[in-house]
Amino acid sequence: MSELVPYLQAAQLPLRPDDLVAAGIGRLAVNLTDYRRQPGFDQVAARGGLKRVLNWDGDLISFAGDFGELTRVKKNLATVGVHYQDPQTAAKLTLTADQAAEWQVAVGDCRPVALFAPAAYYAPVDDLKRAQEANASWARALPAGGLYPVIGGGLRALREASIAAVPAGCDYLIANLPPEEEFAEWQRVVDLTLELLPQGAKVAIVARNPAELRHAASRQIDWLISAWPIKAGLAGKALVKGEVVNLRHQEAADDFAPLQADCPCPACAGYQRATLHQLLHERVPLGGELLALHNLTQLARRLAEEAC
Ligand SMILES: [Zn+2]
Repeated sequence: MSELVPYLQAAQLPLRPDDLVAAGIGRLAVNLTDYRRQPGFDQVAARGGLKRVLNWDGDLISFAGDFGELTRVKKNLATVGVHYQDPQTAAKLTLTADQAAEWQVAVGDCRPVALFAPAAYYAPVDDLKRAQEANASWARALPAGGLYPVIGGGLRALREASIAAVPAGCDYLIANLPPEEEFAEWQRVVDLTLELLPQGAKVAIVARNPAELRHAASRQIDWLISAWPIKAGLAGKALVKGEVVNLRHQEAADDFAPLQADCPCPACAGYQRATLHQLLHERVPLGGELLALHNLTQLARRLAEEAC
């Protein structure tokens, strides 16, 4: 059975923890670079860890960063670490595996993802190989239960080599996947990686849209990490019986039906489509928050049933 794990896109929790729990969510994923400057890891540690900061009692999966893919893979990647830009100040920064491990200790009770930055999916084989080796070296100190990113582009041999380097007792994150528009190739390489993984360990994946979520659920991947349900909801989009409905569109203005009659979420239980449209139109944050809760409720249920 697959579990939906919302991936937060900012340091703040955009929804109330109680509402998330009611929607069926027991685990969140966070990007630690969001907390580097504000409040800073000393503060996070002083306040008793990231769960306290977020007021979240469920589990947390912590990514050291969300660095995307490398367009060039330098020979000294393993020792130098990952270069990235602070999204607010545009300052150029570097994160090494040792620093990432320090961040993970400071945030306390989280399931860490090893620092990773693969080569671009279609990069030359030499780059893919060099990145795979550097990423494996960063994961060496990953504690048991941490998520080890399996990378290697579309190449079976590199994904095998990536899996062979996993530290003892770690679980897996299927990573380094093709661009979103290449869904057939995405499915192929996800299925290939699943075939190579040993039995028994937990498996996670980051899914960017409902189609990827559905495929991952059909393959019984344990943790489906996705920013989509909250991001789409805040943008006015709701998943209704497998279709994405945009409540900002004018046709919702005169629609006095609930979003989805059989849904127990607060959006469907308490509001008509026309009211949701108006809230969005008037930029009342509640509108997007309600749709985010609807998306989470529907996806959490349907992915668990493997039938969305
Ligand atoms: Zn609903």
